[in-house]
Amino acid sequence: MTRLPAHDLLFTPLQIGPKTAKNRFYQVPHCNGGGYRDPSAVVEMRRTKAEGGWGVIFTEQTEIHPTSEITPFIEQHLWDDRDIPALARMAEAMKSHGALAGIQLAYSGINGPNLYSREVPLAVTGGPILTFTSDPVQARTMDREDIRDLRRWFRNAFRRSQQAGFDLICLYGAHGFGILQHFLSRATNHRTDEYGGSLENRGRFLREVVEDCREETRGELAISLRMSLHEAGAYGFSNAELRDFIQMHGDLPDIWDLAQGTWEACSGTSRFKPEAAQEDLVRGIRALTSKPVVGVGRFTSPDEMVRQIRTGVLDFIGAARPSIADPFLPQKVEQGRYEDIRECIGCNICVSGDMTGGISRCTQNTAFMEEWRKGWHPDRARPKGVSDHVVIIGAGPTGLEAALQAAKRGYRVTLAEATDTLGGRVTRERALPGLSAWGRVADYRTGQLAPLPNVEIYRDSRMTAEDLLSLEADHIAIATGATWRRDAVARLHLHPIPTDPAMPVFTPDDLMAGEGPAGGRVMLYDDDHFYMGSVLAELLIARGCTVDFVTPAVKVAEWTDNTLEQGTIMRRLLEIGVNVLTSKAPEAIARGEVTLGCTWTGRTSTLPADAVVMVTSRRPDDRLYHETRALDWRGAGIRSLKLIGDAAAPGPIAWATYAGRNWAEDLDAPPRGDALAFRREIAGLLPQEALTP
Ligand code: ADP
Ligand code: SF4
Repeated sequence: MTRLPAHDLLFTPLQIGPKTAKNRFYQVPHCNGGGYRDPSAVVEMRRTKAEGGWGVIFTEQTEIHPTSEITPFIEQHLWDDRDIPALARMAEAMKSHGALAGIQLAYSGINGPNLYSREVPLAVTGGPILTFTSDPVQARTMDREDIRDLRRWFRNAFRRSQQAGFDLICLYGAHGFGILQHFLSRATNHRTDEYGGSLENRGRFLREVVEDCREETRGELAISLRMSLHEAGAYGFSNAELRDFIQMHGDLPDIWDLAQGTWEACSGTSRFKPEAAQEDLVRGIRALTSKPVVGVGRFTSPDEMVRQIRTGVLDFIGAARPSIADPFLPQKVEQGRYEDIRECIGCNICVSGDMTGGISRCTQNTAFMEEWRKGWHPDRARPKGVSDHVVIIGAGPTGLEAALQAAKRGYRVTLAEATDTLGGRVTRERALPGLSAWGRVADYRTGQLAPLPNVEIYRDSRMTAEDLLSLEADHIAIATGATWRRDAVARLHLHPIPTDPAMPVFTPDDLMAGEGPAGGRVMLYDDDHFYMGSVLAELLIARGCTVDFVTPAVKVAEWTDNTLEQGTIMRRLLEIGVNVLTSKAPEAIARGEVTLGCTWTGRTSTLPADAVVMVTSRRPDDRLYHETRALDWRGAGIRSLKLIGDAAAPGPIAWATYAGRNWAEDLDAPPRGDALAFRREIAGLLPQEALTP
């Protein structure tokens, strides 16, 4: 396999100030939900990027001082020298295959509530903390002494970053999160001193900090400025102002790292944003500066990457999510292994790990953040154990991932699927409005399985318990999925509600099968709170229905706050004419109408409806498992019989692929007993001292 000559461009080195990147693949800073809590997990995750060929690799946001931290989100700390060793280990891992190691330094100002440090937040201009969590906390306006302190804290961080071994420092002024942007933006900078007013004045702090950085690191480290491409609103730091600023200070950093507006705008899901979505905001900026420009765009296509560089939009291809979904993306392009690229599907499940304070996971790369915790690798598999033949029933995301991982380990794999199509739920969901990229979950895995000599795939093969006993399998995984419920049972209603059979009631499965209303007034009840309800509302509108979207939550699709989509979903529903009814739930369904109850007062009202769609919860399809368990499966030589994925406990697709991987990784493993299934780090205790009041 050789790469296309057109892609050679991606492998031409380029200088960034005093450093040279070996290629144009630039892993921009990205969070991972592990941060300071899980240092070794983050180190090994970054090491896979180095191994995978990235030219530049960054840490996530690193908080430089306890007067500004963003608890409950878990990022990195560089508060004193004791934080250096973990970051030094990170830099060493990043540089292990010739990449440049970068650290992103952040002071969050008006964005940091300081829930952990309890320090009074300091901001360019004081006011309520602007973050996702509406904390009842205000920041104090910095005076000149505070600004001097902050410059010194940045200097400390520069020195510590260099001590830790980093090559690049990224100063964070994007997404509304970093104080550099707060200075630049008239929305957050109301100062009347030399740091406020004109663009020149608003840029003063940034210029001072860059000069401090050069001086403190003796010009040995490269400096990147990560800037928002466009802050919305009448007073926001607009794209036009950014261009003015770059024109005025084109040579200030060693590289401009441009990231669209808010984090929501920058990291839009594939449902709402295509690849290269920020191109219009970036085009032309390169002509304003002699320094290289990097930008993001969920780039997974090498042709698109080359186009970005050839047409002078970018010099480096920035990537966070594509590097998560496939840490080996650069190497695969370099070696011409295009069909092996595991493309990001743009679902933002990775983001949800940060937003929830969990640890991030990735729908596509099941090893993400398990490289150290479980010893998983994004591409390599551990050798198989003592047994030979494994059988997997059901070729949804669970079964496909289980089959692929088991096959890579060297097992003989039989995969049986009841329908004629591989992909399970993904086959159905990819046909829904905005979700076509999700099909990559199935396409990647079926593409990888196809050439493997140790895999046999049977389509149109609905298996029975008796069939399973005759397959001479050592291990069997039942991955038969789940079906949506019709009876309103989910979070609010734990038991079915009274329903007149004269009212047509449909589930997402019905709609995905092409059934359900094609007109008339439909009440869609969403007690699922993720994407399905709003996606089906779009589908019903497209079919010509009038839609009442009823949810017991205070906002639609509330869990999509964690995938940065909630606001966009609400806007979309309102724009297409969906009638949104929050804090309401159906209490009874009769012919032609639904009785709704207010979730706070219990007060009822009546809603006319020709049909009902229930987006509530799913029932695991575990019958085959229980029927097989009831037989003498051990007597048939089967060592293990497991129920996995949605058939065990329905969840998002990322949970399904993870379950498949987990099963394959555990094959023939010695019994763990009550030991933990993953490694973790525990805080080192300081010597006990007498506490004097
Ligand atoms: P998951 O998300 O856990 O992979 P899916 O619902 O996507 O679950 O996939 C389950 C797959 O299992 C579907 O493609 C379905 O057709 C298949 N399936 C269900 N029952 C059987 C069976 N008895 N034999 C073979 N395949 C089955
Ligand atoms: Fe892409 Fe989804 Fe993986 Fe994030 S979780 S990297 S959006 S596939």
